[in-house]
Amino acid sequence: MPELTAEFFAFANVNNTIRLRQGKLLVRVSDLLEGAPEAVLRAIAHILLAKMYRKPIAREHSARYRRYVSSHHIRRKAHLVRQMRGRKRIESAQGRTYDLDAIFDDLNGRYFHGLLARPQMTWSRDHARNSLGHYDPAHNAIVVSRVFDHPRVPRYAIEYIVYHEMLHLKHPVKLRGSRRCVHSAEFQAEEKLFPHLGQAQQFLKRL
Ligand SMILES: [Zn+2]
Repeated sequence: MPELTAEFFAFANVNNTIRLRQGKLLVRVSDLLEGAPEAVLRAIAHILLAKMYRKPIAREHSARYRRYVSSHHIRRKAHLVRQMRGRKRIESAQGRTYDLDAIFDDLNGRYFHGLLARPQMTWSRDHARNSLGHYDPAHNAIVVSRVFDHPRVPRYAIEYIVYHEMLHLKHPVKLRGSRRCVHSAEFQAEEKLFPHLGQAQQFLKRL
């Protein structure tokens, strides 16, 4: 077991990270979870270590964690903190056809063990076609172009756009020398795990 440092950290949202740096493990747990019951903190430790060492996550732990985070109390606390930390309120996640919050939560469960904290999800104000979507780290928001909020757009295409932006959330932009590496090799490898990748890219290209 390597040397380990754990701290509560003021993320903008409920979020927990683990990284291995120079042989030491650094764990950061959202300060919104300060005061969480010990069983919940144990569940977080289990999930983070399982992630780090690529071991399966025991369902009881992921369920306990998710139950706690989605509890009324912690959601309210997160909401207040977001307001205090000056998040901008933006448009809406609920479109005419698709609900971006629901799509995020579904993808989070299916591909990220429910571990990503949901940022502000919002449809863009305009119907821009030049940008499918983007992740705005300054406001911790994923913005998807409103063009895609349409019944003729298949769900897997929206899912792909959101999945791509979720990968940006998971893999923050790294500096390689002076060059920004936006889509790292890790990012691209994980993008290929999306089951409808080819279909989605083809649909978006035709649009
Ligand atoms: Zn990208």
